[in-house]
Amino acid sequence: MDIPRIFTITESAHRIHNPFTPEKYATLGKVLRLEPETRVLDLGSGSGEMLCTWARDHKITGLGVDMSQLFSAQAKYRAEELGVADRVQFIHADATGYVTNEKVGVAACIGATWIGGGIAGTLELLAKSLCPEGIILIGEPYWLKLPATEDIAKGCGANAISDFLILPELIGSFENLGYELVEMVLADHEGWDRYSAAMWLTTRKWLNAHPDDDFAKEIRAHLTSEPKRYVTYTREYLGWGVFALMAR
Ligand code: SAH
Repeated sequence: MDIPRIFTITESAHRIHNPFTPEKYATLGKVLRLEPETRVLDLGSGSGEMLCTWARDHKITGLGVDMSQLFSAQAKYRAEELGVADRVQFIHADATGYVTNEKVGVAACIGATWIGGGIAGTLELLAKSLCPEGIILIGEPYWLKLPATEDIAKGCGANAISDFLILPELIGSFENLGYELVEMVLADHEGWDRYSAAMWLTTRKWLNAHPDDDFAKEIRAHLTSEPKRYVTYTREYLGWGVFALMAR
């Protein structure tokens, strides 16, 4: 069981697999006013940076579930490196339907809401693990600027304009699902560049090291088109943020 190989090639050197920087995760940890020993569940925990740094800085305990073998291994390594291996646990598994035995104070899905089949399903799934008065964190893209055509949406890596909402509508959708937005931290261009541009050097290094790999031709074509695609579309049209929600 694993995620498509393209991600473990292009994002192999990423600690954070979304447009958040370490500073943004630090801000988020601070503004949530996390109490020591708060249990945090993270579905699609990637390389574990959020849980590991919050365990170090706020003494939370965490459980991360991620379907990438590589990212899960990196998360465990990061926990050792930051001296929090006794506070955080990472499971390599498909998080679809994952519910904890013990309820958590914070239940998160940051940049992986397909795990619950979209925002509504992910809220429903996370709520099953959450204490009353607990906080749900959803990391999700939104349109900074609504694309004028479906081709522009596709250029942004979306299937259709309808994949995402503009920010007021996204916030409205949380309200419609019975949740109150109690905090949010939004990514900026610098974060998008760190997420996207950092893939290019990683990809180039991979190509140099694997010239005869079956995947090399495809990866070469990807790297050739990616910077221009990114600055033309994603960087112009897509926003991204983490939204902290509590049931009304
Ligand atoms: N939240 C992390 C990672 C976001 S990228 C961060 O902030 O860095 C999306 C993650 O979802 C990837 O790590 C990918 O491996 C994981 N993923 C994709 N499908 C999944 C599934 N069905 N179950 C668990 N993890 C999944």
